[in-house]
Amino acid sequence: MLRLDDNGNDVRTLQESLRMLGYRPGKLDGDFGEKTEAAVIQFQEAEGIYADGIVGPVTQSVLEDALKEFILEQQSPGPDSLVPQERERLPFVRVDADVYRDGYDRFFLREDVAHAYERVRERVTEAGGRLTSSGGRRLLSARVSPSRSVTSFHYTGRALDLHVGSGMESPARDPYVVARDDDRFWRVYVRADGGVAMEVEACTYRSRNRSRVTEGRFLDLTTEMENEGFKPIRARRSFDLGGHWLGAEWWHFQYEKGLKAKKTTFGDELLRVYPEETIRGTPPWNYRSRIYGLNWS
Ligand SMILES: [Zn+2]
Repeated sequence: MLRLDDNGNDVRTLQESLRMLGYRPGKLDGDFGEKTEAAVIQFQEAEGIYADGIVGPVTQSVLEDALKEFILEQQSPGPDSLVPQERERLPFVRVDADVYRDGYDRFFLREDVAHAYERVRERVTEAGGRLTSSGGRRLLSARVSPSRSVTSFHYTGRALDLHVGSGMESPARDPYVVARDDDRFWRVYVRADGGVAMEVEACTYRSRNRSRVTEGRFLDLTTEMENEGFKPIRARRSFDLGGHWLGAEWWHFQYEKGLKAKKTTFGDELLRVYPEETIRGTPPWNYRSRIYGLNWS
């Protein structure tokens, strides 16, 4: 077992391992200081194990597995090891959405993401539901604000937002009914005549942590999205604490297929859609070294 204030060769080995995997344990000096502890916590969080900063048997074995995987990847360069410039660039394509209030009737996604979206839209439309939109691709020149992540999947055409006003306002009428899922995640249901009759514990911007049972016929949009490679994101912590309603993020879905945990960088992804001369000097490019599943999610 290794923890804060320990020292010796085992700590040094731990620091070297963490660094090899892309974490920052501080100096490789064999002293388990705060930086090493922070790196251990980051590693534990990325691996989904209990994050206490202590290297016990579980963390040790997960660490060894991660190292083995890392070494194997180094030894067998597959197509993923090609430098991004040599990969095929994917165009942005236009997709349709159902207008709702001031929402869009069309927006842009990366080509492969657009195909996945179209498949979801087909099923939703078939069931009699609507897919509203507050946008997809975000331009490199878009203003950065507190509610916008600097490494947003929107920059790479991998994310879409349903219309932010099409849910959590009036659950009895909105196109979407939004319910709490585990761990600050949401589950979004599309109101659809061809859906399943059910009761949903609906949340609203106003009530936040209190839900109200809403009956209707719905299609489980979160599951439909997940089946095509899209993932929901969590509400910002501030939202649960009564902060700005824009922190709810129930409307956001991002396509995570093809991203390699601890390997793909935000820069790799920007280069899948933009030539380097176009993105160099733009704000997102400053964050190009962020790594998926490590310090970029
Ligand atoms: Zn979004």
